[in-house]
Amino acid sequence: MKTIFVTGGAGFIGSNFIHEVLQKQTIKIINLDKLTYAGNLDSLRDVENDPYYTFIHGDICDKKLVEEILADYQPIAIVHFAAESHVDRSIDGPSEFIHTNINGTFSLLEAARTYWCDLARERNLHFRFLHVSTDEVYGTLGETGYFTEETPYAPNSPYSASKASSDHLVRAYHHTYGLPVLMTNCSNNYGPFQFPEKLIPLMILNALEGKPLPVYGTGQNVRDWLYVEDHCRAILTVLEKGIPGERYNIGGHNEKANLSIVHTLCDILDDKSPRADGKSYREQITFVTDRLGHDLRYAIDASKIQKELGWVPVETFETGIMKTLEWYLGNREWCQRVTDGSNRIKQLASEKL
Ligand code: NAD
Repeated sequence: MKTIFVTGGAGFIGSNFIHEVLQKQTIKIINLDKLTYAGNLDSLRDVENDPYYTFIHGDICDKKLVEEILADYQPIAIVHFAAESHVDRSIDGPSEFIHTNINGTFSLLEAARTYWCDLARERNLHFRFLHVSTDEVYGTLGETGYFTEETPYAPNSPYSASKASSDHLVRAYHHTYGLPVLMTNCSNNYGPFQFPEKLIPLMILNALEGKPLPVYGTGQNVRDWLYVEDHCRAILTVLEKGIPGERYNIGGHNEKANLSIVHTLCDILDDKSPRADGKSYREQITFVTDRLGHDLRYAIDASKIQKELGWVPVETFETGIMKTLEWYLGNREWCQRVTDGSNRIKQLASEKL
C-alpha cells in the first residue's frame, strides 16, 4: 500500500486534497498539521475513521518528529501544503511567516533528504517531494501579460517573499543534492472549506449575516481564480507525471477584478437567498483603504502543465462559484463553528487529553 505524507492537510487546499485522494481508497494519507487558527479538523470529520487516513498533530519545524514519521510510514511522496497563507496577516506580523514558510520548509527538506538518501534510494522507492506554492512569488503584472515558469521572482508581500524563499530552497535541494522535487505555483483558489478571512467565503458569510462587504481600494485588483478541486487534480497529475526539478504553473484562465467577484456573489445570493427587505446584497458593499503594497494583477499561463502533463481544469468560474456558494449555504454549521471559534475549542481540548 502506497502512502503520501501531507503537511497542512487540515487547511483549505490540504483538506480538499485529502478528500480527493481518499475517494480512490488505494493510497494511504498521513496528515501532519499544527492546527493553527487556519487548521480545522471539522473539514476532515467524514474521513477521521477512514482506515486509509492518519492524523498527526505537530509542527513541520519539528525535524525529529518529521524524521520519525518518514521512518515509520515510508511514504512515496511528501505533498507540502503547510504554510501561513494570508497576505494581510503577513503585513501585520511577518515573523510567523518566516518561521513556518521558510524555516519549516527547510526543516522538512532536511528530513526528506536524509530519508531519501538512507531509505528511499536504497530500496529504489519512487519518491517525490512536491512543494505547493503560489503565483504571488512572481510579483505583479500590468494590464497585459501572463506569468510563465520563466518569469523572474519579484515577491511584494512578506507572505509572497516567504513563499519565494521556500521555493528557492526546494529548487536548490534538487540542484545540489538531487532530491526529486516538484514545484507548483498556483493562482487564487476558491471552494469548500476555505477559512472565511479570504475574499470569497468572507463575502458570502458577511452578506448572509447583514455585515458590510469590505472591498479594498476601488476593487480593480485582478486575480486568476481556480476551483480548489481542479488544483488538487493538478497536484495529483504533477505527482504522477511531473519531471523532478521542474516547476508547473497552475491556473484557471479566469481573470476577475475583486469588485466583479463581489458583484457576482451578491447577484447569485439575491436569487438563492434573498434579503428580507428585498434589497440587493450589493447595498452592503463598502470600499475600504487599500492593502499596503497591493499587487495590481496576477494572471497565469498554464500551458506547460496542459501541454506536457495533459491537465485541464474541469470547472469554469461560473460552475465553480455556483458549487462554492451552494456549499457555504448548505454547510452553515461548519461556517458557524469556524466563525465563532468553537471548532478550535474542541481541537484544543482534545490536545490536552
Ligand atoms: P491554509 O492557511 O488554509 O492552511 C494551512 C494549513 O497549514 C493549516 O491547516 C495550518 O494549521 C497548517 N500549518 C501552518 N503552520 C504549520 C506548521 N508549522 N506545521 C504544520 N502545519 C502547519 O492554506 P491553504 O489556502 O490551504 O494553502 C495551502 C498551501 O497552498 C500554502 O502553502 C499556500 O501558500 C499555497 N497556495 C494557496 C493558494 C490559495 O489560494 N489558498 C494558492 C496557491 C498556493
